[in-house]
Amino acid sequence: MEDKSQHSNFITEIIDKDLEEKRYSEVHTRFPPEPNGYLHIGHAKSICLNFGLANQYNGKCNLRFDDTNPAKEETEYVESIKEDIRWLGFDWEDRLYYASDYFDTLYEYAVKLIKKGKAYVDSLPWEEIREQRGTPTEPGKESPYRNRSVEENLDLFERMKNGEFKDGEHVLRAKIDMSSPNMNLRDPIMYRIRHAEHHRTGNKWCIYPMYDWAHGQSDSIEGITHSICTLEFENHRPLYDWFLEQLEIHHPRQIEFARLNLSHTVMSKRKLLELVEGGYVDGWDDPRMPTISGLRRRGYTPESIRNFADRVGVAKRDNVIDVVLLEFSLREDLNKRAQRAMAVLHPLKVTITNYPDGKVEMLDAVNNPEDPSMGTRKVPFSKEIYIEQTDFMEEPPKKFFRLKPGGEVRLRYAYIIKCEEVIKDENGNVAELLCTYDPATRSGSGKSNRKVKGTIHWVSKEHAFDAEVRLYDRLFTAEDPTGNPDKDFKEFINPDSLEILSGCKLEPFLKNAKPGERFQFERLGYFCVDTKYTTEEKTVFNRTATLRDTWAKIQQKQSGKK
Ligand code: ATP
Ligand code: MG
Repeated sequence: MEDKSQHSNFITEIIDKDLEEKRYSEVHTRFPPEPNGYLHIGHAKSICLNFGLANQYNGKCNLRFDDTNPAKEETEYVESIKEDIRWLGFDWEDRLYYASDYFDTLYEYAVKLIKKGKAYVDSLPWEEIREQRGTPTEPGKESPYRNRSVEENLDLFERMKNGEFKDGEHVLRAKIDMSSPNMNLRDPIMYRIRHAEHHRTGNKWCIYPMYDWAHGQSDSIEGITHSICTLEFENHRPLYDWFLEQLEIHHPRQIEFARLNLSHTVMSKRKLLELVEGGYVDGWDDPRMPTISGLRRRGYTPESIRNFADRVGVAKRDNVIDVVLLEFSLREDLNKRAQRAMAVLHPLKVTITNYPDGKVEMLDAVNNPEDPSMGTRKVPFSKEIYIEQTDFMEEPPKKFFRLKPGGEVRLRYAYIIKCEEVIKDENGNVAELLCTYDPATRSGSGKSNRKVKGTIHWVSKEHAFDAEVRLYDRLFTAEDPTGNPDKDFKEFINPDSLEILSGCKLEPFLKNAKPGERFQFERLGYFCVDTKYTTEEKTVFNRTATLRDTWAKIQQKQSGKK
């Protein structure tokens, strides 16, 4: 995919300099997900950044599954990750790799370090190794096994590989400096014994490389020039540099940037998994989840997510982005291309008493005022229609420009009607309105047409298409659900984040809407056909977003109350 926009930021400045100084002759990046969950909007940021830089510099970007941990990886995650990256609009071409492809090479590299006297087999239990690491202010202690001979280390390491030992009996450690102020350099563990099956290598291995040992070398093997990662790896860089220097292999440059944090949600895969497994949401692709699959089901477009990632930019310091910015990017995109339609979510029946029985007029409606090329469509109008319950008030406040007893309102694309009589049910609720219409006020019938203040949407009763509509709100009420150390993040789940409306009355053409198709329901928001619950018998729409940011207003009101 071509990237038209040229971005410049602190990362491109480093890359420009590297190219100028001929440190590298091209740009080769990678996106390295661990297949232990579905991708979320934070990963989307990283994908847009890595693939975006490759596009910008005419370079390449690899997809590499970082599958060094045998217990956690699952094929379902691998497939979902591939689907999400493709959907976002990026292509790794033939460069799909797995860190597990490098297990043999990593083993050889480890042997090389042992031979150089730069790695040793330690036989202390894990807890003791941990205790002896020291603290940021106190140096660590050297293991009694630290000075084993090269021959002994080679022999033990090979036997570790051959499965002669139990889990935890030995580890391989780098021999660096137990008193380094950087804890990562205090003889970090490179290999541990795990008699576990791996999703790709099966039972071939019973020793597995630690992330810190695998990651930099995997980048090197693939010829990555710029290894872009999040800030928490800044302190690991000296270790990665050390490994590469000792091995004397291709040396990528690591650049750290601040991870994306979004308000009103959680982003750790562990927490997202907790929501899925605890049944708090309806799977990883629940439309309220910050996952890419959730956003897709909710109706987000790839363009809106890419634009959002661009807007957010890259930062050197941690920050939290307001989810309102993500919604803004969505509205901006859908406003330009969503087909308009009329839909009544909370129907109130209106009978137009002076309109002929059985008559149907096909009125012209604009498909998208932002894009005349999308043309017009015909909307049926008849004696009985539905309007939104909230568009009528019996005792309205002063500035209520919708329908009230004795008042007039324009029906979008149709006529001006006047409310003549309110019919109530046995409980005193408004059940139906009797109105009259003014035949001289048909929309589009010329300049002489009379004006009234309010215009409302409607759907003809006889022609309406019934559907279920699902309204979503923020999944969490707190801006930072993980910000309170005394409370579990799940306590901040918004109990009203899903509202299911049945019997909504939609404009008839929506009968043919396909799963995933997006629309703007006039005056209500953006909606899409749900891909999971829509069947032959029932169409389910998801509200992607309201037309404006109503949340800010609600919060203002609430803080005003306090
Ligand atoms: P989590 O904390 O959710 O488990 P992770 O960082 O462990 O996330 P990985 O699968 O290792 O997940 O991430 C793959 C890539 O995506 C890494 O390069 C990582 O830096 C990047 N990434 C993950 N989360 C974010 C984020 N919130 N913002 C930007 N990049 C991210
Ligand atoms: Mg990670």
